Amino acid sequence: NTNFPELIWFNGEVKPWQEAQVHVVCHAIHYGSSVFEGVRCYNTPKGPAIFRLKEHTRRLFDSAKIYRFDMGYSQEEINQACIDIIKANGFKDAYLRPFGFMGAHGLGLNPPKVPLDVSVIALEWGSYLGEESLENGVDAAITSWNRLAPNTMPTGAKAGGNYLSSILITTEAKRHGYVEGIGLDHNGTVSEGAGENLFVIRDGVISTPPLTAGILPGITRSTIITLAEEMGYEIREQALPREALYLADEVFMCGSAAEVVPVRSVDQITVGDGKRGPITEKLQKAYFDTVKGVTEDKHGWLTYID
Ligand code: PMP
Repeated sequence: NTNFPELIWFNGEVKPWQEAQVHVVCHAIHYGSSVFEGVRCYNTPKGPAIFRLKEHTRRLFDSAKIYRFDMGYSQEEINQACIDIIKANGFKDAYLRPFGFMGAHGLGLNPPKVPLDVSVIALEWGSYLGEESLENGVDAAITSWNRLAPNTMPTGAKAGGNYLSSILITTEAKRHGYVEGIGLDHNGTVSEGAGENLFVIRDGVISTPPLTAGILPGITRSTIITLAEEMGYEIREQALPREALYLADEVFMCGSAAEVVPVRSVDQITVGDGKRGPITEKLQKAYFDTVKGVTEDKHGWLTYID
């Protein structure tokens, strides 16, 4: 992605791209001591709107709390920074990356009790697994790398260091020719994609792994659960054996960056008839209609920029 923005919100100021820099002794670069979010802003009929901004900012602060990091700003200030940086760059559709990191405070593993450095980057960035994947689906594989086990690193925190696990999972899958990798959890049951939660559909019942399966509690996951329930589907949060992916009628992945992406095969076993399934298509449409402000915002999920 080379669509870098002109302006970046950094420690309370809107700065030119070149000035938003850190030092090589920055703690977060060495140890992954950072927390972040991935949020999208969509152009709606009433102008650009950020989807579920409050929930993303809350999760950012939850991630910081788990690590006892001080964000140094209120949630309202971060929400405003997100709005401001989209306006400053003149974006209509954007991917937002609110980001708190331990700065240049020495290389000890017990960092001082100082607030994180905080930045909000806005970028123009298309659907993470490719625009064509939204319709055609992706080929995915379970990788030899598992997701993080409970009480090793908290997967409920969206922390920089966790993403070394995601890098292992996604790069292994891509080396073998797949679009995305799926990790199993410490029990050998299904966890999630490298940067996406997973849903499995069989006989009209929609299932997704529970929070104890080493997943990030995804905001898209929560959105899909709400939309599916409103459409009258039965949703089960339950442990899923690997073969549930092979025997599903439909599988899809979802995340703020990836949006809602059908999975057409897992480990070279065709899922259903190898195409986007009917329930996936309905949920995908409901998702895009919601984020793009086509349907009424009855949950108050949209934060308008203007
Ligand atoms: N799992 C992981 C590991 C992720 O990085 C993401 C993307 N943030 C997700 C799931 C999906 O989360 P969300 O829907 O909140 O973007």
